[in-house]
Amino acid sequence: MKRKLLIDKAGVPGIASYEVYRREGGYRSVEKALKSMSPDDVVEEVKKSGLRGRGGAGFPTGMKWSFLAKPEGVPRYLLCNADESEPGTFKDRYLMEHIPHLLIEGMIVSSYALGANTSYIYIRGEYMWILHILERAIAEAYQAGWLGKNIMGSGYNLDLHVTPGAGAYICGEETALIESLEGKRGNPRIKPPFPAVKGLWGCPTVVNNVETIAAVVPIVNDGGDEYAKIGIGRSTGTKLISACGNIQKPGVYEIELGLSVEEFLYSDEYCGGMKNGKQLKACVPGGSSVPILPHFLVTKTAQGESRLMSYESLADGGFQTGSMLGSGGFIVYDEDQCIVRNTWNFTRFYHHESCGQCSPCREGTGWMEKVLHRLEYGHGKQEDIDLLWDIQAKIEGNTICPLGDAAAWPVASAIRHFREEFEWHVNESKLSQQRNYGRVSEKTFVNATA
Ligand code: SF4
Repeated sequence: MKRKLLIDKAGVPGIASYEVYRREGGYRSVEKALKSMSPDDVVEEVKKSGLRGRGGAGFPTGMKWSFLAKPEGVPRYLLCNADESEPGTFKDRYLMEHIPHLLIEGMIVSSYALGANTSYIYIRGEYMWILHILERAIAEAYQAGWLGKNIMGSGYNLDLHVTPGAGAYICGEETALIESLEGKRGNPRIKPPFPAVKGLWGCPTVVNNVETIAAVVPIVNDGGDEYAKIGIGRSTGTKLISACGNIQKPGVYEIELGLSVEEFLYSDEYCGGMKNGKQLKACVPGGSSVPILPHFLVTKTAQGESRLMSYESLADGGFQTGSMLGSGGFIVYDEDQCIVRNTWNFTRFYHHESCGQCSPCREGTGWMEKVLHRLEYGHGKQEDIDLLWDIQAKIEGNTICPLGDAAAWPVASAIRHFREEFEWHVNESKLSQQRNYGRVSEKTFVNATA
């Protein structure tokens, strides 16, 4: 049986309202935690569950929580990172839009575990209609007594706020998010100190992704051990995947980690296979930041083993032949798609979103964008491919925040796996605006298979 723990009720009519959510068993985890568990008990269950951060990094949530400093008389904060802006990733949007009380319930029980009395949901500015959905849901939760003073007579107080960003991708980086919430420009901070020691307004702070916080609800309801039974190895529980690109059924799916990529991509329960009978050319399995996989490494590892939707299996082979689960943005490309154009598109995005603090990212993303532009438009030189490789290598690992790596990895993996397509652009494509992408890709598809 395939279990869904987060969005199984998303289709229930009216589930976005408090009344229906409560009728369907909502807020049980808050009742349980506040009546029969200490904050440390909740942290312990989360540790037992093996839950890992669902925003992209995959760091163990219970461990992150246990790093939180607890100096006497200093407030602690829980911040929900709802600044979902990664190209190809739209799963938090689905959760917040359809079942907002699940996030609020998760915020209450997680805030209780961390000893936070004021918490924030920081949502991307482009999700304005969801901001209003959350505001309405928060008002309902206050009205029903799940927020505010002395919740359920437990003596625990919590105020929850939702705050929009101003449309900057970089504010999804936790320290940039904190800066933005403090009313400043969203520039990432140099770490250490980490937010667990010095975060919002200099106080100990935990920043967790929407899906991570929502997953705390079933963990408290059913116990960490039950949650850990789902999944495979260190990839426990379920994961929301937003699937898009040239597939029959784009959308948001909740999978048990450990599902095979083959089943996810080709079965009718999920993506339904390739659209229009086309062939698979490539896949970016975890949002635009992670390495692209050529078709022969999507459903199988380099060793010929079945590739699974898990942190470990998708990373099998390192960046030579693997990728990452990342944020769960599963982007599928058919044989008609141009990898050079796609890489240029991603790079334009990262250049635009670079905050500009560090030279390798600020300058390097701009240079990569320019070189990719001239390759794409038929003005590239053979040396440009090596130049691109050199630039991305100088960005990776040399920046304050992970945006630099996120910009470098797609370029590196595209050259690694599709070098012949880059060379085709140099040698044969002089009028790229007029070319037939299908024919181009057919040729490179054959080359990539060899
Ligand atoms: Fe800013 Fe880029 Fe440096 Fe991150 S890596 S701090 S986005 S310049």
